[in-house]
Amino acid sequence: MLTVHVLGAGNGRPGADRDTSGLLIEAAARYTLVDCPGGVVAKMARIGLAPEVVDRVILTHDHVDHIYGLPHLIHALAIGGSVEPVPVYGPAETLETVATVLSAHRLVGTDYPAMEAHVVPVASKVAVLNEEIHVVASPALHSRPTLALRIAKDEAVLGLSSDSLPCAEIEQLCADADVLLHDCGGVEADRASFASHHASAGEAAGVASRAGVGRLYLTHLPPVDAVQEASMLAEATVLFGGPVALARDRDRYDLGGVG
Ligand SMILES: [Zn+2]
Ligand SMILES: [Zn+2]
Repeated sequence: MLTVHVLGAGNGRPGADRDTSGLLIEAAARYTLVDCPGGVVAKMARIGLAPEVVDRVILTHDHVDHIYGLPHLIHALAIGGSVEPVPVYGPAETLETVATVLSAHRLVGTDYPAMEAHVVPVASKVAVLNEEIHVVASPALHSRPTLALRIAKDEAVLGLSSDSLPCAEIEQLCADADVLLHDCGGVEADRASFASHHASAGEAAGVASRAGVGRLYLTHLPPVDAVQEASMLAEATVLFGGPVALARDRDRYDLGGVG
């Protein structure tokens, strides 16, 4: 079983319903944070988990909404008495940014868990982890070096676009995934209202269709009302043809059977 906990499904300017984006991947009683959004410790507490359960962190890129929870996580671990190193995987630039931020907050030294840095080259189909889960990364199409991820346990597969325009790398990486979580800034008609480095609902649906995934969840969403949600859902559903939903904070997806 591969369990995906959605800690946040909002973009960098979140509203009341969706906070900044991050996932907690649970498999074989081990936990992997994918991005480290704000309030990460409280978000984990709301699903009954302490920060000490985190075995490692994968950061997709260094935009602040994806990394600003990491200093808080390190601080919270120290408050709880843990100084075990925290393995952190990500692009070289991202790890440099995080190291600078930790240093600026004076969260380094023997009183704090050290960041154990693992550089992930931003290149096609790079193996990131081969443990209880298998994680492979490819470049997303964003304004900074960014990793899209394929996360698998046995036959269960999650694809994550991270922040990205539609791109062939993601289609190939996430081919036949059970679930694709894809960035979505809004409907195509509103493209001018969201940054040029994020996908529309229709573009996300096109990636899902070409990749042949089972289900599409739109994520990294702006604050939207019910009418806007319905518009995004309708645009993606028409172009994908399979099941589509908008991700929500505290969603839980169980992929695969028991094992
Ligand atoms: Zn973002
Ligand atoms: Zn970004």
